[in-house]
Amino acid sequence: MSKFLYRHRFYISRRIVQILILTAYFGANAYGWKIVAGNLSSSVLFGFIPLSDPFATLQMFFAGAVIATDILVGALVVFLVYSVIGGRFFCSWVCPVNIVTETAAALRRKLDFEEKEHALTFSRNIRYWVIAITLGLSLIFSLAAFEMISPIGIAHRGVIFGFGFGWLFLVAIFLFDLFSQQYGWCGHICPLGGFNALIGKYSLIKVVHDKEKCLDSLACFKVCPEVEVLNMVGKYSAPVTAAGCIKCGRCLEVCDNDAFHISVVSLAEQLKER
Ligand code: SF4
Ligand code: SF4
Repeated sequence: MSKFLYRHRFYISRRIVQILILTAYFGANAYGWKIVAGNLSSSVLFGFIPLSDPFATLQMFFAGAVIATDILVGALVVFLVYSVIGGRFFCSWVCPVNIVTETAAALRRKLDFEEKEHALTFSRNIRYWVIAITLGLSLIFSLAAFEMISPIGIAHRGVIFGFGFGWLFLVAIFLFDLFSQQYGWCGHICPLGGFNALIGKYSLIKVVHDKEKCLDSLACFKVCPEVEVLNMVGKYSAPVTAAGCIKCGRCLEVCDNDAFHISVVSLAEQLKER
């Protein structure tokens, strides 16, 4: 494998997976393919496995909707998958908005905005407040509040049915991330990312840091979209147990001495680390 491919192995794999998933949805709509049909809130895999977004399902519950059995089963299936591999796996391997926000972050690094005046700092916990507000609004207005404005849904529908004015929302997120704070939307505000992080908090698949191999270059800090999860880097060997890790693999790619790997980490080991 060439050095370039090795340095971008996760990035390239993730983009391929994201594009294949979008293509499968597009093919279901345009040509009746039976790989995965529906949308990112509610789909059917291979024509018979229901998949429902647990956060969208919870919003429907708060809105007072009668939730069909296949939606409930689909939410349970997704919940179990996220519990094992990590809920934010969705962010880096599936969500189309991730392509927009990672592009903004890369441009931001290239333009050196972190070092200059375009650096705000606002709390990553805002997203958990947005979850509470979303559920409150769903209850009050009897509708799935975030689904009405979700950029994830807009991006997904845009690829499948055409964008209309939805692309303006994505441009707004791109500019917000570029000029406010690195990963301002995904790392601080998006309630779906926050909700999936909570589901996958004790997932078994973890990135693991090896202190013995760490060169203290801090290259991982420059690229990690959830940099606080790397609090052990250079200090001690440990799995990344913080819920925010999106399993993007960027830390593995940029480390010159392979001080990170991905491994199964039991619940007992995780609790020891916390
Ligand atoms: S944080 Fe939200 S918008 Fe960003 S990648 Fe995750 S689900 Fe998509
Ligand atoms: S710790 Fe590594 S895999 Fe997790 S979000 Fe940061 S760069 Fe991505």
